[in-house]
Amino acid sequence: MSPAATARRGRRTVTNAPVAMPVSPEGAREEAALLPDAGAWRAFIGRWLENTGCQVGEAARGDWEVSLSPALQRRWRRQRVRLVFDPQRATLPRGAWFMAPGSAAGRKVLDAAREEALVTRRTALPRVPGAPAEGIAAVCRVRGLSWGPARLGPVSYERRIAFHAVVTLWGGLPAQESWVLLLGSEGPIESVRGSELPEMRSREGLYQISEELEPEDRSRWADAARHHLDELLAEREREWEHAIAKLRDDELARLSAFFAARVEEEEERSRRRTTTNGDEHEMEGGDATSLKLEWERRSAEVRQRWSLRTEIRIWGIEEWAWPVAELEQELRAGAMHVRLTSRVDVARGLPALPACPGCGAPAEMLVRARGSVGCVRCA
Ligand SMILES: [Zn+2]
Repeated sequence: MSPAATARRGRRTVTNAPVAMPVSPEGAREEAALLPDAGAWRAFIGRWLENTGCQVGEAARGDWEVSLSPALQRRWRRQRVRLVFDPQRATLPRGAWFMAPGSAAGRKVLDAAREEALVTRRTALPRVPGAPAEGIAAVCRVRGLSWGPARLGPVSYERRIAFHAVVTLWGGLPAQESWVLLLGSEGPIESVRGSELPEMRSREGLYQISEELEPEDRSRWADAARHHLDELLAEREREWEHAIAKLRDDELARLSAFFAARVEEEEERSRRRTTTNGDEHEMEGGDATSLKLEWERRSAEVRQRWSLRTEIRIWGIEEWAWPVAELEQELRAGAMHVRLTSRVDVARGLPALPACPGCGAPAEMLVRARGSVGCVRCA
């Protein structure tokens, strides 16, 4: 829900008013300037509380008095809570929470918000025209053949589900990425590294699909998403591994050069002392041994620090009604006519690659093949 929509509902709850700056001393003013934008933070917390079913009311000194939703009442074992946003307040009212990013209360909200993915329903808007004028020719090249006119069938809507995830890498060079995976009933349709599906317009609501998904269907979609995300992650881990391997190996090489030189020095010194005083031999040998142990320990540390640890967290699920249509088009060479079809993503106005009439694989190029038409492999 947008802040504007919240404000229109009349219950004045989410304030964007700036927090009053402290009058003095100067130190306090500087401290306040280091805090994140207080207005945006209040608006964010207010929206989250309202969307989870809480009622937010104004209280004295810019505080909020919040009646918690039943779920949050159980989670936090209280019915109401007073939230204090003012970082300059010396003492809090009894039972009140200081609400700032990273404060105990801020982290409680973060924990609760991360627990379940947000779910929304959207309809992808069809593009006009629904397919390029040249039809399948826009995505598939031909040699020794010519295309007939393209005929686009009626638009229908199919269910697709987008899983929004945050992928985190620790170890080596830590990184965090947003991914979106779009699934159809037959399996994965597209995956993007980014926070949104690109090149399309949409509206809220599942306007073209009325029947609900059965629980077993939901778990089937969820299993398919998990499986495919694991595959994508394995692929990404290989890229990350490749990117850090040289840095890790260079660090290990520097460490080895350093310790190898010191062990050699120590052994040389030990040999010289042994010739002058045989009694010290064992102790000096012990020094070289402890250097080698230290070398091993430090190498293990370096390997541990560079080893990849990854996590995928799904934070949002979008159920889509997606416009699709069948595109029909003939390929001709002399008297030979072969009819091809392609599934069109009408939201993008983009035909899929046609299936090769010979082997059925998606074909980027078609040529004459033994009195018919086929992909390069079939020809
Ligand atoms: Zn083929």
